[in-house]
Amino acid sequence: MNAPRIVEPHENLVSIVADLLGNDWDWLHKRLVVFPGKRPAHFLRREIARRAGRAVLPPTILSIDDLVTRIAGRDRVPDIRVAGPLDAVAVLYELHNKLGTRMGGDHFRSFESFLPLGTALFEELEELKIAKLSDRAVRNAVAGVTEGNTPVIADLYESFYAALENRSLVTRAMDYAVAATNYSPSHLAEFDRIVLAGFFAFTPSENMLVRAILADEKSDSVFVAGPGLAQQLKGIGLSIQTGPPPAEAPDVTFISSPDGHGQVFALARLLERSVEEQGMPDERSVIVVPNPDTLFPLLQHALSLLPSEAYNVSLGYPLERTPLFGLFHALFQALAGMQNGRLPMTDYLRVMRHPYIKSVPFGDRTDVTRTFIHVMEERLSESAGRMTVELGRIESDADLFTDAAFRAGTEGDVTVESLRQHVQSLHATLFGGWESERTVGEAARRCSEIVRFIHDRTTAQQHPFFRRFAETFLETFGTIERSLSAGMRLDRPDAVVRVLRHMLASSSVPFPGSPLHGLQVLGLLETRSLRFDTVYVLDANDDVVPGRGGKSRLLPQSVRRKLGLETVRTRDEIVEYYFTALVRGAKRVHVLYAEGNAKDRSRYVERLLWDRELASKRVDAADAVSSVRYRVVLHSAMPESVAKTPEVVEDLRRKTYSATALDAYLHCPLKFYQGQVLRLEEREEAREEIEGRDIGSLVHAVFQRLFAPWVGRALDPSGVTAAAATGVVEEEFAARFGAERSAARVLMREQITRHVQSFLSEYQRPIAERMRVEIVDLERTEEAVFGAYRFRARMDRIERRTDPAGVSTEHILDYKTGGNANDHRVRLDRLDIADRTTWKKYIRSVQLPLYALIHAENARIAPEQVSAAYVLLGVHDIDEKIELELIDRTDPAKGERLAHARRFIDALMAEIVDPETPFTPTDDPETECPRCPFADLCGTTWTKSRSRE
Ligand code: SF4
Repeated sequence: MNAPRIVEPHENLVSIVADLLGNDWDWLHKRLVVFPGKRPAHFLRREIARRAGRAVLPPTILSIDDLVTRIAGRDRVPDIRVAGPLDAVAVLYELHNKLGTRMGGDHFRSFESFLPLGTALFEELEELKIAKLSDRAVRNAVAGVTEGNTPVIADLYESFYAALENRSLVTRAMDYAVAATNYSPSHLAEFDRIVLAGFFAFTPSENMLVRAILADEKSDSVFVAGPGLAQQLKGIGLSIQTGPPPAEAPDVTFISSPDGHGQVFALARLLERSVEEQGMPDERSVIVVPNPDTLFPLLQHALSLLPSEAYNVSLGYPLERTPLFGLFHALFQALAGMQNGRLPMTDYLRVMRHPYIKSVPFGDRTDVTRTFIHVMEERLSESAGRMTVELGRIESDADLFTDAAFRAGTEGDVTVESLRQHVQSLHATLFGGWESERTVGEAARRCSEIVRFIHDRTTAQQHPFFRRFAETFLETFGTIERSLSAGMRLDRPDAVVRVLRHMLASSSVPFPGSPLHGLQVLGLLETRSLRFDTVYVLDANDDVVPGRGGKSRLLPQSVRRKLGLETVRTRDEIVEYYFTALVRGAKRVHVLYAEGNAKDRSRYVERLLWDRELASKRVDAADAVSSVRYRVVLHSAMPESVAKTPEVVEDLRRKTYSATALDAYLHCPLKFYQGQVLRLEEREEAREEIEGRDIGSLVHAVFQRLFAPWVGRALDPSGVTAAAATGVVEEEFAARFGAERSAARVLMREQITRHVQSFLSEYQRPIAERMRVEIVDLERTEEAVFGAYRFRARMDRIERRTDPAGVSTEHILDYKTGGNANDHRVRLDRLDIADRTTWKKYIRSVQLPLYALIHAENARIAPEQVSAAYVLLGVHDIDEKIELELIDRTDPAKGERLAHARRFIDALMAEIVDPETPFTPTDDPETECPRCPFADLCGTTWTKSRSRE
């Protein structure tokens, strides 16, 4: 055995290996180099080509996995196949069900419930196998351990690998165990020199194999110095002397930011500066991305500054972060709730609203499907209390298709029948036949068809990376179809989709870039055996580097330690070693991390800061860290303004206007256009939970019933009792929300009852005791014409109050279930009609001024004799102050203020019907668009983006 060679991280390992191979170019092919991973092979080949200056037969360069496969000889055995996780789980499922004592009793009897457990079991068994542990060793180690179901693992370990062999299946761990056991120098006899380079930690199989290879005198080894190396090498029988790290340290900068996006923006700035000062970065620079979730922000906000050929991404991106997964997730939710052809309404709509689905073209038009979905949602939201949808009923709803075809316009042959066929075909593609797809393989094939449909028939291909995502989905579904689990027959669609969802959630999209050109973007482990001049490390937080204990393990840490398997501690040591090697090997390092929100700097960053303090002999590292701040801006493109045609202007002149319509115009003229001109209704989202608006409608109905007996006569205070409220609330609640008696619903009903009781006893009764209150009418609709335009109001309640002095006033009351007075504030005293910017600012709603004016007109009384007020029912402590008056009843200028309101409505109408003023989108999209029902149509379902300051 030759003495190991230890190199410092700043030395070039690849170059040193090239030195060891020598320059006898004609014999180079007789040499073997083994690295832990695949990437260094590219650099070594290039280095050899550079040194030789001519074409030479290169040495054989293998990763340790490739070497093991070669020694195990699997590739020489016909009909043998590598078992994937779904093959392994199918075998384990069968074995587990045959055991006398099973994990979780009967809990994991079904395949779909066993799948997550089976996946974890497979990983654990592979570790035992790669550790070359005998059945007896495993059983002894778990004997006496009462944690979890550890003995079951010993039972399965005894039978699992034999069961795989019977089916001609092998696993990676089986190869390692075979290679470690069977290795003899004859396996590598064709090589006259062997170099093992860049290794750090060894599994027991690797330990045996590496020891055996290094025992040969033709073998050399090269290791990179770093924390824990001496201990690791001792484990393979090598003894080395370690000294302090070299004095020469890299230039390290630390950048903290409030969150993950901030660090990406900071990195973008660093890259910009680097390009300005040194030109385009090359393969001597690396961005390390330990958390794959950061990859997309990185691509969008930092790498987008560089030409695409200037960088290479070699990283797996989680499949479940892709938009296509979003579609399958929604589809699986819907299918899981499917019963007798009915789907949960919210889940069904979530699928139909997915950007890929709503953009399925109708002919060459991409707006028709979207319009249909919008109209359908309007109709579904009208069916109060309906929680499910039946596809057949939607497809046979003649009114729905007539309305949708009308709104989509006649352009492009949008007939009722063609639209129906379009929707039927969409339904069939997405939801059809699932109830009969009973095996995992059949379901995977259906999913592949959906991916192809999205690929072939939608605009999804225009989305960045869609093709790559789609290919990975197809590969994953193909793997499922070919696996031993494919024939697994499951009882219900929800079981099938659980299996598919599990498989997708554990897959990732590969981004295999070329390692030899451009700025490299890698995970931390992919940097093994490589050194870079400039290193950018993202997500240098402790929950990422080293991370929080990794995947859940079935074997307790104590047993893992006893068996020599990886523990949390040994894993941390591995991360520390590679992180340290990466940093010490560089000339410049930029460490970026998020701080705050329970995010801590990585312990290795703390160590770097500590080293810096020691070197500078200062104990405050705060000035070593720069912080990045940024502000959030919304920069989604706004929709185009819509010009008024003469027909539209004519229509506008003839319309009857409600306060809702005027408010819509005030806040966004385009919203007014969509709702009032195109008559796209402000649809409600279908929902499962009772929301504020449901409660508002219930309370209105309760008050209508409670006060109906008093219409046309004076309220008798003794007749307004709390007891009367209870029964009415209960009946209305049951009629609207059904008889479900969950604790949450009972609590809600009791809260509403208490609130209504407080309203009667603390608000209504004191007023009725103090003065005569005659209920004039409830839920009354009134109309009036002002100038050339007709207006309509629907008033919750009109009452005539007569004070003890005999003075009568008409009161218009409007119930609001919210409790925030500012939401409804009207400041007629500040409104400057000539200054358009004051309109929306001081008139949150035209409702009360309009109602007061309409009622005064109809009652033929002076406007100042009408008092209009909101009744804020949502406040905590109910008393008479819940009335929010439009104008204080004692205000001597009340008449003038209402006249001002009338002039304002005239000005507003003049603008609405002005042919020269287009319907513009709102000037305050941050406030208006998120709560606007037309955000989908406008394309303002905003992705908040952030800009650097
Ligand atoms: S989404 Fe925004 S721009 Fe479009 S109509 Fe609504 S408020 Fe106006």
